[in-house]
Amino acid sequence: MEICQQILEKIKEYDTIIIHRHMKPDPDALGSQVGLKALLNHHFPEKTIKAVGYNEPTLTWMAEMDTAQDSDYQGALVIVCDTANTARIDDKRYHQGDFLIKIDHHPNDDVYGDLSWVDTSSSSASEMIALFAENTQLNLSDQAAELLFAGIVGDTGRFLYPSTSARTLRIASSLREYNFDFASLTRKMDTISYKIAKLQGYIYDHLEVDENGAARVLLSQEILKEYNVTDAETAAIVGAPGRIVDVSLWGIFVEQADGHYRVRLRSKSVPINEVAKEHDGGGHPLASGANSYSLEENEVIYQKLKNLLKNK
Ligand code: AMP
Repeated sequence: MEICQQILEKIKEYDTIIIHRHMKPDPDALGSQVGLKALLNHHFPEKTIKAVGYNEPTLTWMAEMDTAQDSDYQGALVIVCDTANTARIDDKRYHQGDFLIKIDHHPNDDVYGDLSWVDTSSSSASEMIALFAENTQLNLSDQAAELLFAGIVGDTGRFLYPSTSARTLRIASSLREYNFDFASLTRKMDTISYKIAKLQGYIYDHLEVDENGAARVLLSQEILKEYNVTDAETAAIVGAPGRIVDVSLWGIFVEQADGHYRVRLRSKSVPINEVAKEHDGGGHPLASGANSYSLEENEVIYQKLKNLLKNK
């Protein structure tokens, strides 16, 4: 693939490479970011390679972030993984480098970067990094393979979402050839804490489902406090409503400390990302996020979700 060669040429050109990803990182954001860092460290030990952004406490088992000084950006190559729009890039210094590359699998609504590789047919940004390694004949380290595998497992819901292609499975299979503790990794990704299990119970108890399968639940600050769960930890329960056969699409409205709502949207088949875009968000057709600024706006969003199924 020509674009992979172009990216490799740029990587070779720079002594300092700083890798970013989106805010509120998930395993794919970290897997692609730190997997790329591990790959490049393996082949270019003489270069300074940093992965930056907020250290998400629930995911520090995957990776811890580096600190970058403002001066590190001077003459540096910056690569942003898994981030559709500049507003969601974690660490706003991403534009202070010499050259910017975007590597992403979300719809390309916000075109940015001096060079950009966007592949919406890819299950995950981690799959793209593995593909980059394959196309440029850079063999992976065990650590890189493990991180990329974790990212793919995360974004495909363990190979269950429709974004899982034959290529995804082929790449996952080749990553599995490397030497990492597979059982420990998959256990970490599969188990939930007791408090999350209880929150899941709350969700099933309070889920509202209409006659066409549009579902919603609201997690207020009060409930988050009662269950001792942070906003980031709600990632573990986003898929829960989808396990119910009657549910076709759903929104989890998570009240934030400032009173607005983070709306986590998922669907089994009907695209929901246009609704997300209309409410300060975006994302994939079947997995998006929005922001709502009042209970009334929550109602409007739920009504739009219901209409998606009604008008089908
Ligand atoms: P989440 O529910 O946070 O896991 O988000 C699911 C997907 O929706 C992410 O992978 C992003 O692609 C997208 N997304 C979430 N929030 C936003 C937002 N505020 N703006 C744009 N895209 C978003």
